[in-house]
Amino acid sequence: MSFQNPVFIPGPTNMPEAIRKACDMPTIDHRSPLFGQMLHPAIEGVRKVMKSSSAEIFIFPSTGTGGWETALTNTLSPGDKVLMARNGMFSHRWIDMCQRHGLDVQIIETPWGHGIDAAEYEAALTADTGHQIKAVLATHNETATGVLSDIAAVRRAMDAANHPALLFVDGVSSIGSMNFEFDAWGVDVAVTGSQKGFMLPPGLAIVGFSAKAMDMTEGAKLPRTFFDIRDMEKAYANNAYPYTPAVGLINGLSLACDMLLKEGLENVFARHHRIAEGVRAAVGGWGLEMCAARPEFYSDSVSAVRTPAGFDATSIVQHAATKYGMAFGVGLGEVAGKVFRIGHLGSLTDAMMLSGLATVEMCMVDLGLDVKLGSGVAAAQAVYMAPQVMDKKVMAKKDAA
Ligand SMILES: *Cc1c(COP(=O)(O)O)cnc(C)c1O
Repeated sequence: MSFQNPVFIPGPTNMPEAIRKACDMPTIDHRSPLFGQMLHPAIEGVRKVMKSSSAEIFIFPSTGTGGWETALTNTLSPGDKVLMARNGMFSHRWIDMCQRHGLDVQIIETPWGHGIDAAEYEAALTADTGHQIKAVLATHNETATGVLSDIAAVRRAMDAANHPALLFVDGVSSIGSMNFEFDAWGVDVAVTGSQKGFMLPPGLAIVGFSAKAMDMTEGAKLPRTFFDIRDMEKAYANNAYPYTPAVGLINGLSLACDMLLKEGLENVFARHHRIAEGVRAAVGGWGLEMCAARPEFYSDSVSAVRTPAGFDATSIVQHAATKYGMAFGVGLGEVAGKVFRIGHLGSLTDAMMLSGLATVEMCMVDLGLDVKLGSGVAAAQAVYMAPQVMDKKVMAKKDAA
């Protein structure tokens, strides 16, 4: 038998068997029409998952980090000013990338565990009367702290300040698992990767560009070659890449989009919400606190759980790996050793989640924390036993059919 358990790291996520098979392909000529038959449906699918009618979608052999670089280098020039909140390790890393590219980052320091404060963005943008800020960056879901930020509010702040900057959103751990509205939120560049909500192996950077962001590409002076979307755009028109595409992953991406759209995006989001509610109930059952400071910040794709002062949260992750063969996420940066993370995005059911919660519970008891066996699991079970409420819009469509 296989001793493989589901993983509960916040990416890479568990892969459905059908997606694994779709990625496992014989070699094909990546300049043949056959490749175009795989590429274009994947692009169409991603556009729908991002809730956009017209975004230009680019898929690079890379990861989410390459998507960050694609956003920056195709739109900005050395010395350009950008605005970004830092509220965890991932926003920190994107800021670091901006700085290493010679951009001038105006950082809004935000407590780890809090979401983006749109009022602070608005104040910074209103003060920028000369419109020096060229782009506003936002981490939709801060995977290090399990904090979701309100991107619609960021857009409203930009509009209230009447500021023309572009809006770049890191949706690596939200797109495909939590609501993301490229068009409605006026997103200019959205960034994600293959190994989180899309349930694929790592290896793709997936980005969406608005018409306004596309218009910036000619004037942008940051050096770029591999991530130049102009080369990509020309090649796509010929069903090809400027170099060798990750053919199997693109085939898998096409299927992943089909699966998400067939389940119904609203149902996918509802499933993640229900699973996350069970996790949060378990955390309450254990008498522990979420790293996310308030319910409005709770993420439905990852929970960071604080352990009591003086206890090393990382020991839970190590113990789960060595004794039970199950993977959870460690705390990163400022919250290293203070939190452990439970990833609950991608291909996941209530029953799978219960196995993860039961395992963490055993680890905490093993390690001498004051937690009672069954306390968290029972709290989650109560959530999962409640009748499932289908999204009203989806129900209405079903009734009409
Ligand atoms: C995982 C993640 C990234 C980095 O993606 P890689 O694919 O590891 O390069 C960036 N931002 C967020 C929010 C993430 O969760």
